[in-house]
Amino acid sequence: TQHLLEVEGLKTEFKRGGGSVTAVAGVDFHIRKGEVLGLVGESGCGKSVTSLSIMRLLKDTPGKITGGSVRFEGTDLTKLSEKDMRRARGNDLAMIFQEPMTSLNPVLRIGLQLTEPIMLHLGYGRKKAREHAIHMLKLVGIPRAEEVIDEYPHQLSGGMRQRVMIAMAMSCNPKLLIADEPTTALDVTIQAQILDLMKRLKEEQEMGMLLITHDLGVVAEMCDRVVVMYAGRVVEEAPVQELFSNPKHPYTKGLIQSVPKLRQKVRRLESIKGNVPDLSQMPPGCKFAARCPFAMEKCVASEPELIPLAGASERKSRCWLTQDEAVEGGDRA
Ligand code: SF4
Ligand code: MG
Repeated sequence: TQHLLEVEGLKTEFKRGGGSVTAVAGVDFHIRKGEVLGLVGESGCGKSVTSLSIMRLLKDTPGKITGGSVRFEGTDLTKLSEKDMRRARGNDLAMIFQEPMTSLNPVLRIGLQLTEPIMLHLGYGRKKAREHAIHMLKLVGIPRAEEVIDEYPHQLSGGMRQRVMIAMAMSCNPKLLIADEPTTALDVTIQAQILDLMKRLKEEQEMGMLLITHDLGVVAEMCDRVVVMYAGRVVEEAPVQELFSNPKHPYTKGLIQSVPKLRQKVRRLESIKGNVPDLSQMPPGCKFAARCPFAMEKCVASEPELIPLAGASERKSRCWLTQDEAVEGGDRA
């Protein structure tokens, strides 16, 4: 069966100095209709570059997709013309960024920014588009929507701006929403409200979602399945409950252990020691070897593949320790 989104072997490189570095090194995952896939990992692991690659929004960076495919309902987005891609971004795909001020135009009223895409993509006239925009603002819980629509972004609080962004992203009924740290900049109460809202809209509209976050609490709350990235690679994939109850990859185990326990207020967040390797000086073997408490000689010498594991569907791990759990004769990912 065809998935809503199918990312296969995605590779994105950046020019740096005289050469290039690989920020996304052959990433595979898929998302179904009405499903939320979490993409987690430390900053610099390639999460954001992956999402920008899917949306083909690398133009402002020196990045370039150099391999693989991104099939959306069967169409390879990497092969679309700029014009068709722009249309797809308005109609079927939408993205919410972490910092709403970077995606809202400060000199234009909220209303104009909301209604233009609605007119363009849904073909509504100005009056109907404005009504739809107000409806969307109400849907994301903005009070006095009829007034807010005529205000400028700076007149709103951060939480309200983020809601406007979400209203904007949802206003053309996207089939896939990519949300990159959508609530990280917000306080906890507003964060919870916005996550609730996204969940509701996902259920009501059967929208698929790629949720990029480093917050495992948000993952537990929102996601159906999770992909863990490290150094531009997928290192683990699992249904959300299994990821937490039985993580397979040492990096995932480290991430989960680093979450501070509830009610242990004073305890310091115990993060994984060491740093993500420099993209321009990737070690040849397992990219996590320098930080892995289980590293063996083999790990330093050669990199394990991401392989499906036996016992559960849609479980994969990229670690020499889990190779013996591989699906017998299963497809290599
Ligand atoms: Fe650790 Fe080796 Fe597994 Fe890498 S392959 S995560 S170094 S045990
Ligand atoms: Mg990021």
